[in-house]
Amino acid sequence: MTVDLANLSVPGPTANSLTAPFWQAAEAGRLMIQRCCACDKWVFYPRAICPHCWADALEWQTASGKGRLKSFSVIWKPGHPGWIAATPYVVGLVELAEGPTMLSHILVQANDVAVGDPLSFASTNIGGRILPCFAREAT
Ligand SMILES: [Zn+2]
Repeated sequence: MTVDLANLSVPGPTANSLTAPFWQAAEAGRLMIQRCCACDKWVFYPRAICPHCWADALEWQTASGKGRLKSFSVIWKPGHPGWIAATPYVVGLVELAEGPTMLSHILVQANDVAVGDPLSFASTNIGGRILPCFAREAT
């Protein structure tokens, strides 16, 4: 990836009252996800009710930001033309250390990525917005 992601002209996420804490934390460089006060399990994506025990007692907590690449795709034909300059790029499923799986842009070379790669949360300027991404964990 040689393009400066900050200069892309791409649409941003749509935040609402339920997801705003996630986007605001990412903008500040932190990964926050929900945790259930009743069963103590981590939850992602943001929800009003715990998918494990159905309690409505979810609170936002800072996650470790560590994860493992569970699966990925190399994107050659993006869904929005603003991403063409960044091709090929990698989008993957990150299995967080806390348990939930998160879809994310992965900041790696498309020809140097493998399932199982250790990853770290890395907020990144994409199209002028600071957005959640993951990069290979420094070893
Ligand atoms: Zn629960």
